[in-house]
Amino acid sequence: MKLTRHGNNLLQLTYYGFVNVYLVREEDGFTLIDTALEGCARSIVQVAQKAGLPITRILPTHAHTDHIGGLDALHDLLPEAEVVMPARDARFLAGDMSLDANEPQDKLRGGWVIRKTHPTRLVQDGDRVGSLEVITTPGHTPGHASYLDTRDRTIIAGDAFQTQGGVAVSGTLKLLFPLVKFATWHKGLALESARKLRALEPSRLAVGHGRVLNQPLAAMDRAIKDAATH
Ligand SMILES: [Zn+2]
Repeated sequence: MKLTRHGNNLLQLTYYGFVNVYLVREEDGFTLIDTALEGCARSIVQVAQKAGLPITRILPTHAHTDHIGGLDALHDLLPEAEVVMPARDARFLAGDMSLDANEPQDKLRGGWVIRKTHPTRLVQDGDRVGSLEVITTPGHTPGHASYLDTRDRTIIAGDAFQTQGGVAVSGTLKLLFPLVKFATWHKGLALESARKLRALEPSRLAVGHGRVLNQPLAAMDRAIKDAATH
């Protein structure tokens, strides 16, 4: 595991060289964004303990295996922590793989796993979780969400963007790291969601796979242009 600090409130934990989770510092404890895989749970809890705060909330970005795989193990270790889930992807977490009539009927892609942990709270676009504002960013999955830290405009974008193998919108092929592309449900919606995140003028972009970018607007613009033309 590699631990990297970004600004005052963000710790990035990287497992296996390509799976990120984030600890967002709040006054009452950490909000953990994503959960990596089952075997990472104990290490995540230890990092928070060393940093001197409990994990009080668990907040996945979407229901793919490499983002919710550790959820049950973390819930066992942290039974008091709130489990907050984007409402649409909570259905996948519980094993309901149906698409709604008003959604594109494209095939769901990527790795999915059922977890027995029940979210204690479901969130929609615009909701607040501590200092974080929920920004729904469908495309990679139907219920993918990103989180804007309203204190410093850091965006934790899950797989709406990737920076591993080059900065890209979800759905654009990056040969050095094609996993995000091949796990993306709907490229057109992913592009719309990327524009939505760009319009928020983030000061920092933290993603599920790859390094954190400071002052990311130019890189996001290039990635959006690339996604729109390929
Ligand atoms: Zn994913």
